[in-house]
Amino acid sequence: MKKTVLITGASRGIGRETAKLFAQNNYNVAINYYQGEEAAESLFRELINNNYSAIKVKADVRDRKEVDKMVTTIYNYFGNIDVLVNNAGVAQEKLFTDISEEDWDWIFDVNVKGIFNCCQSVLPKMISNKQGKIINISSIWGITGASCEVHYSAAKAAVIGFTKALAKEVGPSNIQVNCVCPGIIQTDMISHIDESIMEELKRETPLGVIGSPRDVGELVLFLASDKANFITGQIISPNGGLVI
Ligand code: NAP
Repeated sequence: MKKTVLITGASRGIGRETAKLFAQNNYNVAINYYQGEEAAESLFRELINNNYSAIKVKADVRDRKEVDKMVTTIYNYFGNIDVLVNNAGVAQEKLFTDISEEDWDWIFDVNVKGIFNCCQSVLPKMISNKQGKIINISSIWGITGASCEVHYSAAKAAVIGFTKALAKEVGPSNIQVNCVCPGIIQTDMISHIDESIMEELKRETPLGVIGSPRDVGELVLFLASDKANFITGQIISPNGGLVI
């Protein structure tokens, strides 16, 4: 039977490319978006026009009621959620001393509480099915820490701890929970970075390139597949060797 994936933050960047890959690999795809109505609509049209199976569902992952409503809509449409990709995320560069309480809450609410909300919403059915895969998107900065991104680094480190603990708890229900920590990936999120800094990052990267959303999507697709049934609680970083 065809499996269903819910990808949060699928309107742009890594989530968008990942949604295309899952569609091409015979999944029903639930495209979650928040503010990017037009971008989500264009992805939805692209998938439907290629005879893939998709719906688009608006929800702010910070809001539990919106998340539960989104999950119910997907159950009603596709019957199940086999794979949850917690990709929605926000970043911000600021000196630590300039980070406001609002900044802190925003970064943690989207990057961490969003994952808590989505996991709690889908897990009861995954547990009763005795099957499910959850892939959380963290960042290399959650592993190493990034200067001028203390709140982002702390939030992404929380995602790593969350993944390990949840993997232990739901493993007996045959649910795999893994974490992907991308390196520098060419998306809107890093579009503010100067050309010269990008060149420097490339030079520092052993493979000598900036990553593409597809580089991340292919790993997520693998982790969602039966080929990864024995992999859980793992932190895997597609980063071109920038962090080894
Ligand atoms: P992006 O291009 O900025 O896209 C971010 C996505 O998150 C958008 O689809 C956006 O949806 C969604 N989003 C933001 N706030 C949301 C909310 N409250 N509720 C639901 N969706 C929300 O970012 P990206 O580079 O693809 O990043 C994807 C993930 O990879 C993030 O978790 C990010 O932290 C992580 N990551 C990225 C890089 C990188 O270099 N790009 C490196 C490491 C990790 P709308 O536009 O519809 O609001």
